[in-house]
Amino acid sequence: MTRTGKAAVYEAPNTPFVIREYPVRPAKSGEVLVRVRMSTICRSDIHSYEGRRPNPCPGILGHEIIGTIVELGEGVEKDMRGDPLDVGDRITWSEYFHHGDCYYGEVHDMPQKCHGIRKYGHDLVAEDPHFLGGFAEYCYILPGTWILKLPDDLSDEEATPINCGIATMASVTEAAEIGLGDTVVIQGLGLLGLYGCAMAKARGAKLVIGLDSVADRLGVATKFGADYLLDVSRMKSSDVVSSVRVVCKPDGADAVIEVCGAPEVIPQGLQMLRIGGRYVLGGLVNPDANVTIDANILVKKWITLRGIHNYHPRHLIQALDFVMTNRKRFPFKEIVDSKFALGELDVAFKKAAERSVLRAAIVP
Ligand SMILES: [Zn+2]
Repeated sequence: MTRTGKAAVYEAPNTPFVIREYPVRPAKSGEVLVRVRMSTICRSDIHSYEGRRPNPCPGILGHEIIGTIVELGEGVEKDMRGDPLDVGDRITWSEYFHHGDCYYGEVHDMPQKCHGIRKYGHDLVAEDPHFLGGFAEYCYILPGTWILKLPDDLSDEEATPINCGIATMASVTEAAEIGLGDTVVIQGLGLLGLYGCAMAKARGAKLVIGLDSVADRLGVATKFGADYLLDVSRMKSSDVVSSVRVVCKPDGADAVIEVCGAPEVIPQGLQMLRIGGRYVLGGLVNPDANVTIDANILVKKWITLRGIHNYHPRHLIQALDFVMTNRKRFPFKEIVDSKFALGELDVAFKKAAERSVLRAAIVP
């Protein structure tokens, strides 16, 4: 008898998801077949759904996933740390995979930017092995993916965002070079921003300032280490800058991190920095993020401006270890604040898009 599994298929932008069944075949050499335990809706899933970035359809969206191993293909015995893998183990895995030679991976140590890299949640569902996204009962983990076993005492809610949001913030906060005693501004307090606050604190920041225009998020951010919060919804741009600068003694912030996806905040962020400050952009993942800046500020203030996209495999390990080390200090479990069945994906996307939930989880 052939095994089948259900998937919520993304047929086209802005149209309802359709539940369909596809065959589940045995895992081939180098593959792992998992039963999806939980998938969370990332902001980039919403961008795809709204047609704001290209994504093949019909397909299965979702790349923030954890699962339980159903079948290990030949040759898959250990996770990226060398821990043995068995059927029944709960795992997370890199949101991207790539195999073969790669100029960026080998020469520049940027495997996350290899040409031909593929990401989960970005394939056509009609093609074998069908299940390559999170909003489905099964997922195949293909060769070239980094797999990491999850500790038993970690909840699904804490574990699911590790392979996208949390690992990305490990990469972003590393690039921002946050150190002991730093003052750090986080522009945007969605999941990335909340982890950004917590990681900045864990890396030794003295003062973390969170900015958002959604009042509810500001309250949540205090639990994740933000010391000072500004509701920027009704503030003039110049007032946002002066309010930040007045608490960043003596001459502005050491680092600013953009994770709100709004290019218009960049001129503000530049003005918040001290001379020699660092600015890391992590949220502008869509094309046409146009903005006008006075580049003279970059020169005169010796600003380091960096964009970060995806993460290195080391950041996946760091993300898991960060959550394990800090889960008593910060209530990570509360970030995944709503759960939906596979058939409720439309409702879940609607709530996530309108930001009435922080991180919506699908339990297929
Ligand atoms: Zn994501």
